[in-house]
Amino acid sequence: MKLDELKLQTKYLDSVDSKFYQLLDATALDNAFLISYNKKLCDEIGLDYNECETNEFINFLNGKKVLEGSKPYSMVYAGHQFGHFVPQLGDGRAINLGSIGKWHLQTKGSGLTNYSRQGDGRAVLRSSIREYIISEAMHALNIPTTRALAIIGSGHNVYRNPFQAEKGAVVLRASDSWIRIGTFEYFARSKDAKQNITALADFVILENYKHLKDDENKYEKFFYELVDKTALLLAKWQTYGFMHGVMNTDNMSVFGVTIDYGPFSFMDYFDKHCICNDTDIEGRYSYNNQPYIAKWNLFVLADCLSIIADFEKLKNYLETFFSQHEREYLELMNKRLGLDITLSGDKNIDLIIRLLKALESSEIDYNLFFYKLSQLENLDDFSSILDNCIYPLVMKEWLQEYKQVLLLDPRTQNQRCESMQKVNPKYIIKNYMLEEAIQKAQEDDFTLVNDLLNIAQNPFDEHKDFQRYAKATPKEFANLKLSCSS
Ligand code: AMP
Ligand code: MG
Repeated sequence: MKLDELKLQTKYLDSVDSKFYQLLDATALDNAFLISYNKKLCDEIGLDYNECETNEFINFLNGKKVLEGSKPYSMVYAGHQFGHFVPQLGDGRAINLGSIGKWHLQTKGSGLTNYSRQGDGRAVLRSSIREYIISEAMHALNIPTTRALAIIGSGHNVYRNPFQAEKGAVVLRASDSWIRIGTFEYFARSKDAKQNITALADFVILENYKHLKDDENKYEKFFYELVDKTALLLAKWQTYGFMHGVMNTDNMSVFGVTIDYGPFSFMDYFDKHCICNDTDIEGRYSYNNQPYIAKWNLFVLADCLSIIADFEKLKNYLETFFSQHEREYLELMNKRLGLDITLSGDKNIDLIIRLLKALESSEIDYNLFFYKLSQLENLDDFSSILDNCIYPLVMKEWLQEYKQVLLLDPRTQNQRCESMQKVNPKYIIKNYMLEEAIQKAQEDDFTLVNDLLNIAQNPFDEHKDFQRYAKATPKEFANLKLSCSS
């Protein structure tokens, strides 16, 4: 499809009261130019990717070109930030353009809205590059996420520090949904809350849970399905060592996808107390806390939905969160380790618990460990793993235990590795790689942005020129905390 053939729909505007959104135009960036576009997502959306090379496409991202059917709007929401309720947040710099098929398109960094509060409505180049690349990396790992279609840069000065100008950028994001738990929190506190929450829940069901639309318990069932989805999402985050960094309720999707990338990180070496956000002093959003916080956030949603659904039922279902989460986490870990659960059953749980201790004490790069394990040709030589351990002793013992469990498995090592290689990528996008791409981009060299996008989208493939990224994160960059500033 040509750009002009994309016909957008804005059903949200017809579904909820106008006090929950603002119709507005983006404030264009000065001297905007294209940095990168995502051919894979173009294909999924049905957009001819040659269109992305046109000026019209830049204008589309920059808000100067409004597609047929589009009525740009920003949404209001509320949220619990670090556990504290904030009555009004919203799309302070994001503008929704409408949807095509299942894709709801949104630009981030498009200028002031009614919900900008003290912000400037802008996004800086570095955070835009981070979001653009990581959302594709998550998708390639089969972790539910929002996506990113393209990124434009500009000559527009943006200040996150009063003494240092940075350049503004816009990312065009695409998602099944941009509704957050925080959206429900805002609606739940509105006048005529019942009517408003009903409208919002019906919108979400029609967009994302259509099979429930005629169910007499549709609101309860929507919640149950979200609990399932979130338990699985968190299992995937934990399995790959992904940390979101700011799991406020306004950053939690009601479709169970990873949303709003800020100071995220793929853990370098395993540390269950790892914190990736430098403002998170108490570690509320530390690696180990993530599933607890997800459940806490879902409880906040249950409270909002209690206006239209049976709260006891919601609460009872929420109690299944951890058993589901653990089951899925174990299943994924078993896959990464090449363990057949039907053969060794409960033994695997102990083995995994001991693995986490071995990983922690050996200080091997977390995802590199799994990659090396999936490449082992024979079980008598673990040097490729042990050589990557700073303190190998505990890992050495663990590998012997692992070998014993594998003896129960009739598959050959080759067969086992083949299945492990499907879930253990050679490349994981780490913050230091993004930082390299950002530094080059600050000097107007965007080749590494595009190269990293390619690696992010094809993490299981060989990338001959980037063998250095298949190694452990250099120690000086490992498990660093990042600032929230974006
Ligand atoms: P976040 O923690 O990035 O998810 O953002 C929390 C809230 O601050 C949301 O309501 C955002 O829309 C808003 N926000 C963040 N950065 C900006 C900005 N530069 N300008 C306006 N609003 C912003
Ligand atoms: Mg946010």
